[in-house]
Amino acid sequence: MNIILIGPPGAGKGTQAGILVEERGMVQLSTGDMLREAKTSGTEMGNKVADVMARGELVTDEIVIGLIREKLEAGGTGFIFDGFPRTLPQADALEQLLADMGQKLDAVVELKVEDEILVERVVNRATEAQAAGKPVRADDNADAMKTRLLAYYKQTSPLIGYYYAKGLHDYVDGMADIADVKAEIAAALDD
Ligand code: ADP
Repeated sequence: MNIILIGPPGAGKGTQAGILVEERGMVQLSTGDMLREAKTSGTEMGNKVADVMARGELVTDEIVIGLIREKLEAGGTGFIFDGFPRTLPQADALEQLLADMGQKLDAVVELKVEDEILVERVVNRATEAQAAGKPVRADDNADAMKTRLLAYYKQTSPLIGYYYAKGLHDYVDGMADIADVKAEIAAALDD
């Protein structure tokens, strides 16, 4: 089973993807994580994306599709796409890449969270990381968060209608406790 977790920044996609990896042995493909890794690698591509990410804007389709292609070409199944696709061209590319492997998407689960709560969560995440002496994400601040939300509503949220039309969309209440969100996702995947 291959699934997409979709939702605004701070919705909890990474948390839930982690649970699915633990409990179902699925494979998480987070373009955000891949891009942050590229950033620390000091490569030309890494440096190029660092500024874009810190502002909260989207990295080019070409770069993220390339990253996903590399992972998929290594083979496997049971993928959780987390933070990808974020644009319609990315969605088309994903469909093609899966088709090339003789696979398909089985579900797209949206995590719904109110905007005010998203901003609060992200700002808290930064404050808590700082208090614990952990690295703070360059884009976890109120300014970058505004840009991230704008990118989400302008470029990513149209994918929800797109996947609804394909009969793949489901949604869960992302404001519930982590365990309840987990249970709702399980219900969506197992029905
Ligand atoms: P979040 O969804 O919480 O904002 P991510 O870790 O998924 O965080 O992404 C962080 C940043 O990485 C994004 O704001 C964007 O700059 C970049 N990014 C991640 N995935 C993509 C993608 N599929 N397309 C374009 N940019 C991406």
